Amino acid sequence: MKPRALFITGADTSVGKTMVSALLALALDADYWKPVQSGARDEDETSTVAALTGLPPERLHAPVYSLAEPLSPHEAARRDRVVLRLERIVPPESPRMLLVEGAGGILAPLRDGSEDQGAASPLCMADLARHLGTPVLVVARSGLGTLNHTLLTLEALERRGLRVLGIVLNGPPHPENRMALERLARVPVLAEIPTFPDLQPEILTAFARGADDPFQRVREAFCAEMTREQQSRTGERHIWRPFTQAENAPPPIKLVAASGSRLFAEDGRVFEDLVSSWWVTTHGHCHPAIAGAVSSQANTLDQALFADFSHAPAERLAEALCARLPASLTRVFYSDDGSTAVEVALKMAHQYWRNRLGPDAPPRDRFIAMQGGYHGDTVGALSLGFSSGFYDGFQSLAFSVDFAPFPATWIGDQDAPEKEAEALEALKMLFEDGQGRIAALLMEPLLQGASGMRVCRAEFVRAVAELARAHGALLIFDEVMTGFGRTGAFFAMERAGVTPDIVCLSKCLTGGFLPLAATVASEEIYDAFRGPTFERAFAHGHSYTANPLGCAAGLASLELFEKEGTLERIATINALHRARLARLSGAPFVARTRTLGVMAAVELTGPERGYDARLGRRLKRFFLERGLFVRPLGQVFYLLPPYCVSDATLRRAYDTLEEALANDALFDSAGEDPLSA
Ligand SMILES: *Cc1c(COP(=O)(O)O)cnc(C)c1O
Repeated sequence: MKPRALFITGADTSVGKTMVSALLALALDADYWKPVQSGARDEDETSTVAALTGLPPERLHAPVYSLAEPLSPHEAARRDRVVLRLERIVPPESPRMLLVEGAGGILAPLRDGSEDQGAASPLCMADLARHLGTPVLVVARSGLGTLNHTLLTLEALERRGLRVLGIVLNGPPHPENRMALERLARVPVLAEIPTFPDLQPEILTAFARGADDPFQRVREAFCAEMTREQQSRTGERHIWRPFTQAENAPPPIKLVAASGSRLFAEDGRVFEDLVSSWWVTTHGHCHPAIAGAVSSQANTLDQALFADFSHAPAERLAEALCARLPASLTRVFYSDDGSTAVEVALKMAHQYWRNRLGPDAPPRDRFIAMQGGYHGDTVGALSLGFSSGFYDGFQSLAFSVDFAPFPATWIGDQDAPEKEAEALEALKMLFEDGQGRIAALLMEPLLQGASGMRVCRAEFVRAVAELARAHGALLIFDEVMTGFGRTGAFFAMERAGVTPDIVCLSKCLTGGFLPLAATVASEEIYDAFRGPTFERAFAHGHSYTANPLGCAAGLASLELFEKEGTLERIATINALHRARLARLSGAPFVARTRTLGVMAAVELTGPERGYDARLGRRLKRFFLERGLFVRPLGQVFYLLPPYCVSDATLRRAYDTLEEALANDALFDSAGEDPLSA
């Protein structure tokens, strides 16, 4: 359970936070706690509050960190040779409400990420407030300088998803400042504290508990916040979740914010996102460059229908994508997500042949896909991905597709060439049996994601491409998952050394911020749709085609690849994967390992197979309890982190996996889930 607590921060240092905390402790009959105290050698705020309020010692809780020097907490901690850790900051038990006083302002650092601070990731006061899961009250000076400092503080709090109750102004009244704050910040000023000529407990108590109740609005706002929070817990009743059996799934974890590779839950827990939020998060959550681009686009041009209008974000993104792709891929058709990108490609290939051959020629309308391929959940995409095993109940809805074997390989696999030869033989038969009716072959190049992070060699992709060409079929690559660096090259097609006729892109296209997809085709395909009549045109489109916000996010994300040296970072991540996978080979329960770019997968010998295998659920939980979010695909454990992930986090993920492998109970096939409470 979360404590009934309120976090008190200041718009600046020396704005009277401690004074306001003392008055609030009196007015709200609350306990006082300053978890991180710096300058304890000279001045200890807990004693100050005791002197100001006359409250008994059991109402004043001792700091967790009491640092000697009167400096910023991170520096004071360095001088004292301690590393501040949020896990250690646990609120004291109390039947009363708790006032938590921060140290310095909301961005005051607790750790700066340096070596002598354990190289642990940087932390600031806002992280502490979030860790405690409390709403925040901002104390500000009433006079000059307050507008700038207070607005900055509020913006920083809002960005981090912290709930702000309001502002308390301290000092001689300035009605014009108060009004400006309420207008500009859209946050209420809940109380104004006068200057006290004499700081006696009796005088302060008389004020705080006076008949005109100066903190009435703080009390009301806090109660309203507690009620709102309680209600938000029942909001589930109108939700229907994807890929989830609501009857037995654990309750969802409610997130309030994300940053870099970390997800912040409402209850204060923090998780490292090791699967890039279903493979979309690219450079990290809430990357300021992308957030800024989306925000300024949202204030400029939000949406336009793309049949009649054009705009710079769509044009510039198309140009940037084509500059990154092989020269023959020249025409960008925008849609919304991976599934629609695939639907567009299928219809494009289908109509391409109709337009080219004419209505009277025998149709070229069948597709070949790979066994185990996954292409999305809409009906066309599921037809092509039918063999992935997700859709057995939809057999009668799916159209008929031919499936070729996929020669999955792994580290140390000796039989790849043999498996490939067999697969190619089978594929050749499919083309021959198709007797010229095959419109296109669709595949995920090099890496099949959803069916268990299965990889094949570049040699195979090249041979498939040659076969398709030899039989006159179009080649479509579904790079929805492999695009934008995932496999180590910018696109998997580069690694494979093959240029398709059509490529589907989506997941990392916007850096993971907004739904957007692109189906990019060659000029030859585009040309087949030109002509004097509408019949030849591609009659396909979505309401949000080329949404300017998504395109702006896409451009900002593409720019980051250069600015942040992303591909080099991916190579470093891959080197770490290789080293740690090598250590796992031969470990108990480890069957096979494989890695490509940022993806690393470990196939485990679990008690059962399939997407919903118990082993996967147990592992997920094991990792969650250790602050790491993974989502195994059945018995395949994998990592697919955003590129900003730290080496330390990745090492922790592998350490945790090794810990799990040493835990026989996780792999026990008998009985119920041994880890469930
Ligand atoms: C996720 C995925 C899709 C479907 O994308 P959505 O955005 O979920 O519709 C298609 N193809 C591949 C390879 C994917 O990984």
